[in-house]
Amino acid sequence: MDSSCIQSASSPFDCIVFDLDDTLYSSKTGIGQALKRNIDDFLVERFGFPESQAPTLRAELFKIYGSSLVGLRSLGYDVDADDYHSVVHGRLPYDLIKPDAKLRNLLQTIKQRKIIFTNSDKIHAMKTLDRLGIKDCFEQIICLETMNPNLSKSTTPVVLKPSMEAMKIAVDVAGVDPRRTLFLDDNVKNVAAGKAVGLRTVLVGKAIKSKETDYALETIPNLVQVIPEIWFSEEDDQRISHTKNDVDSILSATAVGA
Ligand SMILES: [Mg+2]
Repeated sequence: MDSSCIQSASSPFDCIVFDLDDTLYSSKTGIGQALKRNIDDFLVERFGFPESQAPTLRAELFKIYGSSLVGLRSLGYDVDADDYHSVVHGRLPYDLIKPDAKLRNLLQTIKQRKIIFTNSDKIHAMKTLDRLGIKDCFEQIICLETMNPNLSKSTTPVVLKPSMEAMKIAVDVAGVDPRRTLFLDDNVKNVAAGKAVGLRTVLVGKAIKSKETDYALETIPNLVQVIPEIWFSEEDDQRISHTKNDVDSILSATAVGA
């Protein structure tokens, strides 16, 4: 049962925790834009906000509360979470997300436990991972429902990254030692919260690291260059170089084909 026993002893990491949206695929797919439009539509359709004000309101809610759902609930609006997600995620053009063979190959070379930690609801996470062709690469999905078992009660505050509560739930549910766990996210606040609970952190989408993060990388394939110790093995050096060569050959093969 304990998959950590197959993990190599020399790697400083037992587990890799990945955010999903804008981390495992780019918001430039058009999904990010569609998501914003859907939130605006929700604000107009369900609460009658003027169409012209919806984008500003959405941006403010995100800035202050980290999500429109949390913001609306915090301001006392009676928002049904299932209804919110049926509009905001249910109407997304998922066909914009294409299978990512390069990402899949890379994930398969990572022998440690791999977990998704997302603020999105489970249906969105499953659909997105399925579209990317990487659903079977992860042993666990920690999502909105994991952090909020009583979500349907509209009086309950919603727990999401980057709150400390959310980070503690994730560490607890995953059953990991945060000091031996690498946490990747594109959001600086989430990464800072991860560091505050003792996780080793990676900011995705930025090439330059800041004080909130232990590592920074442009895209996931850069893991190979930036954090090669993920692939370190307790076996001899030959095995290590073999593994690294495998990764290199995967990357060069996909680069040629791309
Ligand atoms: Mg993200």
